[in-house]
Amino acid sequence: MGKLEGKVAIVTGASRGIGAAIVAKLAEEGATVVACARSIESCESAALCLKVDVSDSAQVDACVKTVVERFGRIDVLVNNAGITKDGLLMRMSDDDWDQVLGINLKGTFLFTRAVARPMMKERSGSIVNISSVVGITGNAGQANYTASKGGVIALTKTTAKELGSRNIRCNAVAPGFIESKMTDGLSDELKKAYLGSIPLKRFGNVDDVAKAVVWLASDDASYVTGQVVGVNGGMI
Ligand code: NAP
Repeated sequence: MGKLEGKVAIVTGASRGIGAAIVAKLAEEGATVVACARSIESCESAALCLKVDVSDSAQVDACVKTVVERFGRIDVLVNNAGITKDGLLMRMSDDDWDQVLGINLKGTFLFTRAVARPMMKERSGSIVNISSVVGITGNAGQANYTASKGGVIALTKTTAKELGSRNIRCNAVAPGFIESKMTDGLSDELKKAYLGSIPLKRFGNVDDVAKAVVWLASDDASYVTGQVVGVNGGMI
């Protein structure tokens, strides 16, 4: 029997990369998984795919309503949707700031707010937010992204404090350098520099992150809340 048998999970940013791997691993452990992204047609392991822009509160609320109507409950939420729009602080446009904060941080808030009521009704739930190592360390050229991911960590800790008495846990996973579409575009020079800073001497893969998410989502982590789990090969 899987660790997540009978549980209903929502994963955002599930059309590719880390999100798609999380969907597959949660389903492997027996969860009924709803996969969300702006452009998603089908997903092999998911019970349902929904087109949702996480930065739009009406779409987020409608998604959660659909899931509760269809499956009766929500046990797990994984806030994974994220984008980058890199550039030096002095030249960063308002739009690049707003878009990244709107998806990475506001999107996490909107979904967390939307699932809080159905989870409170069940008096249980696990929310896992995907942050980033650079949300802890900062990174030149990523003022918007690092601020959003640092914000996700603070939001995680506050959510854990507000909802803990209802047995709803909230934790963050902070990946290091994971091979995906997000990192594919980086120059070989930058990739070499990152590799030099990783004690395990390899980049992470999407399953490295998905396995940590499964643990936090499951009852194996039933006394873990408000924490940030680094999946970064020892980078920090
Ligand atoms: P990715 O391959 O670019 O995938 C991002 C996912 O987010 C896609 O499914 C995308 O689908 C979805 N998405 C983007 N904007 C959205 C929106 N407004 N509403 C709903 N879904 C949206 O990136 P990834 O590497 O798998 O990253 C996943 C998460 O891990 C992100 O939060 C990222 O910041 C974090 N992370 C990644 C790394 C890394 O090294 N790769 C390191 C640390 C943290 P659509 O475009 O179809 O909506």
